[in-house]
Amino acid sequence: MTTSPLPFDLTPTDHPVSDADREAALANPGFGRYFTDHMVTIRWTEDRGWHDARLEPYGPLSLDPATMVLHYSQEIFEGLKAYRQADGSVAVFRPEANGERFQRSARRLAMPELPIETFVEAIDVLVRQDEAWVPPSGEQSLYLRPFMFATEIGFGINRPANEYLFMVLASPAGAYFPRGIKPVSVWLSKEYIRAAPGGTGEAKTGGNYAAAFVAQAEATRHGCDQVVWLDAVERRWVEEMGGMNLYFVRGTGQDAEIVTPQLTGTLLPGITRDSLLRIASDLGYTTGEVKISTDDWRQGNADGTISEVFACGTAAVITPVGSVRSSEGDWTVGDGQPGPITQRLRAELLGLQTGQRPDPYGWMHPI
Ligand code: PMP
Repeated sequence: MTTSPLPFDLTPTDHPVSDADREAALANPGFGRYFTDHMVTIRWTEDRGWHDARLEPYGPLSLDPATMVLHYSQEIFEGLKAYRQADGSVAVFRPEANGERFQRSARRLAMPELPIETFVEAIDVLVRQDEAWVPPSGEQSLYLRPFMFATEIGFGINRPANEYLFMVLASPAGAYFPRGIKPVSVWLSKEYIRAAPGGTGEAKTGGNYAAAFVAQAEATRHGCDQVVWLDAVERRWVEEMGGMNLYFVRGTGQDAEIVTPQLTGTLLPGITRDSLLRIASDLGYTTGEVKISTDDWRQGNADGTISEVFACGTAAVITPVGSVRSSEGDWTVGDGQPGPITQRLRAELLGLQTGQRPDPYGWMHPI
């Protein structure tokens, strides 16, 4: 075990969820519905820096109504997963990468940066304590939600807060596709945008999600599962889908080229996206980070040069995109079914995450 620069004060709960109730939750966890017995809290103040690291019973917070986050949304978060491994142990997928992204989000939101070792240690402490909540196997996992927000009290808006609370929660997550992989339909959002140049698009901050709900509702009204975001300036370049990044497969078989929209500063640099660039390249595919327009997408599906499209992210790992709707017309991706490269990449990544396949990259962090 690495020595922590910040000692954690451990206060296990006197009232853990009963074994029977926990097992019932794990039998059908859904997503974000059940929470484990504990949580981590660490405080930051201007004079003391990071201090008071605790593992404590999961429970409500008491906040003054004038707490700054409630008014000005100075908040950032992360999402990552712990998986039960083939040998029964538990490992977390790329926590250092999430720790780095959390630091970048903090810089953009003018918040203090939590050291990556402390971010990872906080996850270790919580998962070790609540290990029984890591589902037994397969595609189920324990979803981890680190987050941080401004706790200073007051209405001053000319400067960032001088006090913050960092926390980690854990919530068991079921298999995203319990009854087989089902492609999603997407709505191309021309009216609403998610992020503009110079804005907060590449930070994982709550405001980006609050501003997205209205477009997601519009997608639902058009009978679609998810919204696809376009660039703010021309409404022409494809950026990402809901809470996931997008990939396009050009051509077929081993000669296929697997490309994803380049990081322009207005989309979230997904850790799944990054991992797939590496995996696909090591499987012998050509990969690329490109600009792809909605016309390229429609044309590529019409003439067959784009054979598959999929989305990727921590929650669903890989989701095929089956059809597209937009104000300028609708079309189907390939035959509308999950494509072979989408399925191959999904099996490779999930195999690595669950310890069924080797991890040549050292991405799995054992607890
Ligand atoms: N884009 C957005 C907007 C997201 O919220 C997420 C989920 N964090 C992603 C992409 C995918 O990122 P990751 O692979 O790190 O989960």
